[in-house]
Amino acid sequence: MKNVCIQGVTGSIGSQTLAVIDLHPQRFRVTAVSAGRDVAGLAEVCQRYSPRWAVIADERLYVSAKAQVAQCAPDTQVLAGPSALCEIAALPEVDVVVAAIVGAAGLPSTLAAAQAAKTLLLANKEALVMAGELVLAAAAQSGAKLLPIDSEHNGLFQCLPDGLADPARGVDKLWLTASGGPFLRWSARDIENATVAQAVAHPNWDMGRKISVDSATLMNKGLEVIEAQRLFGYAEDRIGVLVHPQSIVHALVEYCDGSFLAHLGSPDMRTPIAHALGWPDRIDSAARHLDLASLSQLQFEAPDTQRFPCLDLAYQALRDGGSAPIVLNAANEVAVEAFLNGGIGFGSISTAVAETLRQLPVSSPSDLETVLAVDADARRHAQAAVASFAR
Ligand code: NDP
Repeated sequence: MKNVCIQGVTGSIGSQTLAVIDLHPQRFRVTAVSAGRDVAGLAEVCQRYSPRWAVIADERLYVSAKAQVAQCAPDTQVLAGPSALCEIAALPEVDVVVAAIVGAAGLPSTLAAAQAAKTLLLANKEALVMAGELVLAAAAQSGAKLLPIDSEHNGLFQCLPDGLADPARGVDKLWLTASGGPFLRWSARDIENATVAQAVAHPNWDMGRKISVDSATLMNKGLEVIEAQRLFGYAEDRIGVLVHPQSIVHALVEYCDGSFLAHLGSPDMRTPIAHALGWPDRIDSAARHLDLASLSQLQFEAPDTQRFPCLDLAYQALRDGGSAPIVLNAANEVAVEAFLNGGIGFGSISTAVAETLRQLPVSSPSDLETVLAVDADARRHAQAAVASFAR
């Protein structure tokens, strides 16, 4: 029986993790959970699973969360605030931490889990983009095992020898696929004026709003290129992106002899979640298996970085190194939030990110404190950039 802590339990990945755990009550116990602000959602999870700990990240909601959880799960201890997210990630009673908070808010607890030698299931890509070296170094030092849940990285992990991109084993290049998002065939002018409803309507995946917008701009793929570099240690020119509108092939590893190993599956996050939860065993995910005979076409094409400039911005940030990926991520979070709130147009997201990157010199943050300081500074600059594009 493994004791699982699910950070971001009320979100898309969090609820799909619960769905996989429901299939294996003899293997997993939900021991600790967290949410950002969704008190009712957190209480509902507590009622169903009676975890020993539940955290509401927004401290202002502590009284209401405590009262609601007490009514339906009297044995659950309620904690509040960002430090409590780190506390439950490092509890001795926890074996596995699922990092499924969205955005930079997930970094401290992800790092805490790595420092505490947990098996760390990584959905939160922003933590690796901002502080991949810190998280990996902490895991190496403590003996924590990192398993990617992000479908492309989980696919790479499965196609690589021993889950590692070791050039000595003949690996030439890693390929991530992108669906292309809802605007794949749209003109630049139409993309510029896309609405929020259009941007979050992903053709293949059912995801949270922030990552859905990231998919529509292709920033999600850019963040994933950086995530892949962190996880597998390859330079950016050996990590490629292919647009694959069907979202059936999630990732490919190209070997020096011309072989490509590909990972295929339905676009359903329960598959990589089950793979990582069960690893090294295989467990059922309840995801629909592919009917290969009915797949008439698998298309691949190069991404169009003219209409989707965010992908190039991410590659550039990776090349610049140091603080640049932190700035990229922070500016993107600010710009996406402004777009979702109606403050800026879709086309201004990439412009605001580019402008913030242009303004801030590259530095070399070396610990969590300096990483968070760069993040905060970048957010201030991005807010100013966003204000100048306000409509
Ligand atoms: P959602 O928006 O659906 O869920 C986000 C979760 O994080 C919610 O539980 C939310 O709580 C919580 N949260 C938000 N802000 C804070 C905060 N400041 N402190 C603590 N918790 C917070 O996101 P997704 O599940 O879609 O994505 C989660 C992560 O997984 C992202 O990094 C994303 O890139 C990655 N990912 C997602 C995939 C998907 O299919 N959804 C696929 C691959 C990766 P509340 O509900 O209270 O707001």
